[in-house]
Amino acid sequence: MSAPAPLLELAGVSKHYPVRPSVLGRLLPNQPMVRAVEDVSLAIAPRETLGLVGESGSGKSTLGRVALLLEPPTAGTVRFEGADPGGDLRRMRRRAQMVFQDPQSSLNRSLTVEAILSSPLAVHGFGRDRAERRARIAALLEMVGLRPEMMRRFPHELSGGQRQRVGIARALAIEPALIVLDEPTSALDVSIQAQVVNLLVELQQRLSLTYLFISHDLRLVRWLCDRVAVMYLGRIVEIGPAAVLWNAPRHPYTHALLSAVTADTLAPPEAAGEVPSPIRPPPGCAFHPRCPMAGPRCRAELPRPHASADGVTVACHLHDGGVA
Ligand code: SF4
Repeated sequence: MSAPAPLLELAGVSKHYPVRPSVLGRLLPNQPMVRAVEDVSLAIAPRETLGLVGESGSGKSTLGRVALLLEPPTAGTVRFEGADPGGDLRRMRRRAQMVFQDPQSSLNRSLTVEAILSSPLAVHGFGRDRAERRARIAALLEMVGLRPEMMRRFPHELSGGQRQRVGIARALAIEPALIVLDEPTSALDVSIQAQVVNLLVELQQRLSLTYLFISHDLRLVRWLCDRVAVMYLGRIVEIGPAAVLWNAPRHPYTHALLSAVTADTLAPPEAAGEVPSPIRPPPGCAFHPRCPMAGPRCRAELPRPHASADGVTVACHLHDGGVA
């Protein structure tokens, strides 16, 4: 049986920002650029959960925003449901949503929960009048484990976990197919994190959702995700089935991340050495200044992604049939 067509496809996607703000919207000659995302290609199948991991500053959140076209890519293409959504961003907004890390700042403090959830419904034409939208909001709140009466509350009257449930309800309001979850539990107490994760799993099964799950919590990613992509300085250095990556990581950076996860440490300690600047990434393999396996070729030549029969693609000279 052939694999299902991807829901989301990125091809050669890059995102660069000027270090200093541009003058009157124009870049200056030789303007230094932060290379937040560099030449990323990946695909996510319907109902799949793809985890995106890497140290802070690796470009995970930027990639999530560009994948939803909340920011335009500097280069490359984004295809959603088999088409270039460039001409129909409104449809993309309806079918692909984001849940943010910090529910405190992602919800408008001056609006009630009802007003927060009404806005996307009204914009995308859900419900003919306020009564219909209220009924839908009540159903959404129950779907995320909150009482319908909570629609009268303001965000500051809710706990952190309740606020994140409202954030999830807002993403679900207009029946998306894809949700980008950007560190959705990292601002929550540990006891609440498990409840929110269980809710995400339950909603995915019930609503046939597809997730791009951005997280620095490697154990959570292992448990939740079908496949995992590892980012380093804006590039995907390894991607493959979660179980295969965990049991036999191939890229030295993936190895460093995973071997650093101990029984009492949820977040990976940084790999040895400093993360190089994304303004002037090292030549060749950007990981070479920190890589214990680096050889002469690594300092001169960019490793290209190399796919294996077990579904893992890795960008490392040790795994492209050559030598480092
Ligand atoms: Fe290390 Fe070289 Fe592989 Fe980069 S290409 S991860 S420096 S062995």
